[in-house]
Amino acid sequence: MEFYDVIVLGAGAAGLMAAASAGQRGRRVLLLDHATKLAEKIRISGGGRSNFTNLNVRPDCYLSANPHFCRSALAQYTQHDFIALVERYGIPYHEKTLGQLFCDDSSQQIIDMLDAECRLGGVTRLMQTAVESVEKGDRFKLSTSRGVFESESLIVATGGLSIPQIGATPFGYRLAEQFGLAVTELAPALVPLTFHADDAARFAALSGVSLDVEASAGKGRFREMALFTHKGVSGPAILQASSYWRPGETLTIDMLPGQSAAALLEASAGSEQKLSNWLADIGWPKRLAEAWLEGEGYAGRVKDLNPKQATRLAEALHRWRLLPNGTQGYKKAEVTRGGVDTEALSSKTMMAKAVPGLFFVGEVVDVTGWLGGYNFQWAWSSGFVAGQHA
Ligand code: FAD
Repeated sequence: MEFYDVIVLGAGAAGLMAAASAGQRGRRVLLLDHATKLAEKIRISGGGRSNFTNLNVRPDCYLSANPHFCRSALAQYTQHDFIALVERYGIPYHEKTLGQLFCDDSSQQIIDMLDAECRLGGVTRLMQTAVESVEKGDRFKLSTSRGVFESESLIVATGGLSIPQIGATPFGYRLAEQFGLAVTELAPALVPLTFHADDAARFAALSGVSLDVEASAGKGRFREMALFTHKGVSGPAILQASSYWRPGETLTIDMLPGQSAAALLEASAGSEQKLSNWLADIGWPKRLAEAWLEGEGYAGRVKDLNPKQATRLAEALHRWRLLPNGTQGYKKAEVTRGGVDTEALSSKTMMAKAVPGLFFVGEVVDVTGWLGGYNFQWAWSSGFVAGQHA
């Protein structure tokens, strides 16, 4: 049996940050993970360049049953704190779009930086370690494939359910339940949506076609690109909206955001142009224009539209209603929506209110960020805060 002040379960984004934060306070820290490789999700993130934070991080970019919960942690360790750390390590980075910061070279630099921060904190790290059980008496007692470890504090950073092929498990949710903490409903988020059979047939030839749109679901409304795939729709606007979408609901898509379809149609009234060419002229891929118009029941030329039809077409262009039949699931989702109920946690420390010494951080908590570096910032902020209090 070995004793540590703090055991951190899960050596991903939040776990590495929590371990470094506690270790650098002088706590004796053990970091455990069942995976072979360190922080695989950081490595594959951002197409291998990791979108590690966002300049515009603010609480309203997160979904949670309690939208205020993330406020304290995000204020205690901000995106600027993380950027300062990245700069201290001399890691070159750039803003891609909408405040999204990416490494110029490789996401491995972020992993190496966090690993170095853990070494500075004297953290002991054990990979390929399966946790068989967790019990709590005066201390936490973990039985693992490498023996028994005890600690005063336990930080759970085992992440969400997305990408099970690289080690995602429901372990953190089960552990929360074991200690009497509620877990909210879980669902894949930041995930491509799939078509019903009739839409699949209608858009079958459009795989790879993209369009600037504004996609809305629930309270989420996002102006970015949408991409048609062979199974449905994806692209940043759709991924963002998917986090707000619920099965059975329609997605509303403005296919001409920032423009007035009515004014454009009026300006072209009487034109001999085919409707599909007219849409192509205002920026639509021709194939999309043809398939979309056919599906909405429009053919012929601009001049053939009577005023009522023109109004209806303008309305449909700004409020196209698409009914997805589902999502592509955890295999393709970037994150899991829902998690350990924030009601059960202190927002200032991330500790369970009813279980002194037990902390939950990162994606396992019911805090889900937008696409664009927000989820990593939640991992850094919540991990740092727990490390300061464990
Ligand atoms: P994770 O980073 O998933 O870490 C959890 C760790 O716990 C893993 O190492 C896992 O092996 C370990 N673990 C799980 N179960 C057990 C167990 N039973 N025993 C021991 N260890 C266990 N977010 C962004 O902000 N920017 C991006 O660019 C971005 N790109 C992404 C790309 C992809 C393809 C995916 C899937 C996600 C991306 N995300 C991105 C989301 C981001 O990766 C996660 O939100 C973030 O990694 C969550 O951090 P975490 O530490 O909570 O969980």
